Amino acid sequence: MDVSHLLDGLNDDQRQAVGSPLGAALILAGAGSGKTRVLVHRIAWLVQVEGASPNTILAVTFTNKAAAEMRGRIETLLGHSMSMWVGTFHGLAHRLLRLHWREAGLSQNFQILDSEDQARLMRKVLKSLELDETRWVPREIQWFINAQKDEGLRPKHLKADDPTRLQLIKIYQAYEDACKRAGVVDFAELLLRAYEIWRDNPGLLEHYRNRFAHVLVDEFQDTNTIQYKWLTLLSTPNGLPFVVGDDDQSIYRWRGAKVENLQQFRRDFPKAILYKLEQNYRSTGIILQAANALIAHNEGRLGKTLWTSGAPGERIKLYAAFNERDEADFVVNRIRDWVAHGGARREAAVLYRSNAQSRVFEEAFLNARMPYRVYGGLRFFERAEIKDALAYLRIISSRNDDTSFERVVNFPTRGIGAKTLDMLRDYARTHAASLWSAAEACIKSGLTQRAAQALQSFLQLIEKLAAEIKDLELYEAVDHVIQMCGLIESFKKEKGERGEARVENLLELVSAARGFTPEQNWADNAGLPTDANSPEDATRATDVVANRAISVPLAPLESFLAHAVLESGEGQADPYADCVQMMTLHSAKGLEFPVVFLAGMEEGLFPHQRSAADLAGLEEERRLCYVGTTRAMRQLYITYAEQRRLYGVDNYAQPSRFIGEFPVDVLEEIRPRLQISRPLFAKISQGGSLRETPAPGMKMGSRVRHAKFGDGVVLNFEGNGPQARIQVNFEGQGTKWLMLSYANLEVV
Ligand code: ATP
Ligand code: MG
Repeated sequence: MDVSHLLDGLNDDQRQAVGSPLGAALILAGAGSGKTRVLVHRIAWLVQVEGASPNTILAVTFTNKAAAEMRGRIETLLGHSMSMWVGTFHGLAHRLLRLHWREAGLSQNFQILDSEDQARLMRKVLKSLELDETRWVPREIQWFINAQKDEGLRPKHLKADDPTRLQLIKIYQAYEDACKRAGVVDFAELLLRAYEIWRDNPGLLEHYRNRFAHVLVDEFQDTNTIQYKWLTLLSTPNGLPFVVGDDDQSIYRWRGAKVENLQQFRRDFPKAILYKLEQNYRSTGIILQAANALIAHNEGRLGKTLWTSGAPGERIKLYAAFNERDEADFVVNRIRDWVAHGGARREAAVLYRSNAQSRVFEEAFLNARMPYRVYGGLRFFERAEIKDALAYLRIISSRNDDTSFERVVNFPTRGIGAKTLDMLRDYARTHAASLWSAAEACIKSGLTQRAAQALQSFLQLIEKLAAEIKDLELYEAVDHVIQMCGLIESFKKEKGERGEARVENLLELVSAARGFTPEQNWADNAGLPTDANSPEDATRATDVVANRAISVPLAPLESFLAHAVLESGEGQADPYADCVQMMTLHSAKGLEFPVVFLAGMEEGLFPHQRSAADLAGLEEERRLCYVGTTRAMRQLYITYAEQRRLYGVDNYAQPSRFIGEFPVDVLEEIRPRLQISRPLFAKISQGGSLRETPAPGMKMGSRVRHAKFGDGVVLNFEGNGPQARIQVNFEGQGTKWLMLSYANLEVV
């Protein structure tokens, strides 16, 4: 067979790696050097040259988006589609648990808790332990528990050396019990359990070890302890793991990622061949020069320098915006220019440090009627009304789902009060039962007639809906439940745009269900039986996958619900539409765009003040900046605002220290508004009338007072209307430019 197409478009180093002898390998290389490309070609190589069955390949990527892209690229290379396990760690773990729910000690229709559900459950647990939420903060405990799970630790593994820790361990145990009763697992639990079922079932592990001879991992630098343990269980020292990573792009330390896993890998697989790639194919010379200089400020790197044979390209544009709205307008205008010159909107990406920054950009794009798409952030599936609807669907799918029960039992209100709920919770606790069973029992005895009736109406509603949707298509089922559960009616009563938007979102959920096919999801083989409970069963299950013969589909509704939790809102807009891409720097990892805007480059925001407190945190922020910089192919813009209103507070921050870490000659400052206001300057300096200035009564040389900065002297004006600015020299504070319309200056 001619396999030259597998090596086409690769340089010598990349070819070496793709054609590496069967055995462990580590590719350590910088951004844009073709790591992901090598991984994709390697998989095709395994199939076409080494004769590996696609069934024996397990490929792990970092996001669902990356997984879908990888699958597509492999299939293009091979010229046909195939059944192969490609996914994120969470997606693959989930899939394994669906197959082996019995070994995992789960119920067959277990549900996944996202972090909001987790917090709600945590509050319940704290209440049942009679602990004060102000002292035992749910979010912090959640953090504690997730961190333990990421390290592979159960309550029994933890030692209590002081009373606080003892209490934390007790809470952890109580939380686990509550999850078990409700038949739910959180994200960290997916990984830990997937690890435990292999660790504790040697037969099962053996099966998967034989099955997945080829394990390939992208973005290896961001694996955490439990993911690494999971991988090494699967790949014995004689195994063939093929991992690629870049220590300079490790950005999930805060979530337990261990960049040390790169070194650990070399110790655990001493025979692994090491490949390095240094030629970058993504960015212009100037962008690379900037990225290299920036990351050189970090210590303890494994060290590599990227180079390109391409042109240096344009300098990096630096824009000092007056405020966050001006920043957004600037970005919109630049993208307009890009489009006017024949570019596509999807080629432009706005990257920011914090989700909250997206809102102002969204507004600006809306005003400009420019289609955009937000990846991550406040995602479609995280919106309250969507979660309400999903809670109805979940409880229809699994009556023991207490989290969903709590969410909708009295929403829309049907006269079920706090007292009734307390009683149900008490009953559930003492009988180790679900709230649903508690409700059934308490209706029979214990509740007042009115309360019993109200509760009965809820149980009947759920049973009725469950019966009615039994034979419907998924989207019809979703539609039916949304229409009949009372949510739409109740939101329609809500006044104004908010209620309307909620109804629209609910309707959007129906379209999401309509567009949903299991292929979009972890279950690339819709035919996976869900009840394999022994290695033999698993063999059968995987054989079914291999020849796609019989199929027992996972119920579409369950599959959809799992998708809703795992997906990062990819359902919100058509991903193929030509729209501007917006996302946090974290979610931009691995991606590339011709034009990139790094927005909000201010001290405190980026580097984030919380993370910049210690050196390790600051270095991680710098790696994040390196990731952002190296997303850009042709043009890179860096923007910061001199005044920013975020979370309702005004900030006057310094430009990010990272800007100062770029070589001076790669930057080009632009301040278009300065030019616009030249005539005004001229007028002022010629001593012309100041009536035209935006602040009547305030002249150059006037003494003014500012609530925060104190007293100062006006030095300059520029701009007009809402964009007008004033320059003031404050005593002991130095000179600052302020937006006149915000600044609230008083003449003194
Ligand atoms: P990151 O660290 O950001 O994940 P990466 O190392 O995975 O980057 P890729 O995304 O695989 O890099 O490749 C970067 C870009 O360079 C892609 O557009 C890819 O198609 C292109 N590329 C990689 N190798 C070559 C090559 N040999 N010839 C031409 N283009 C290449
Ligand atoms: Mg990559």
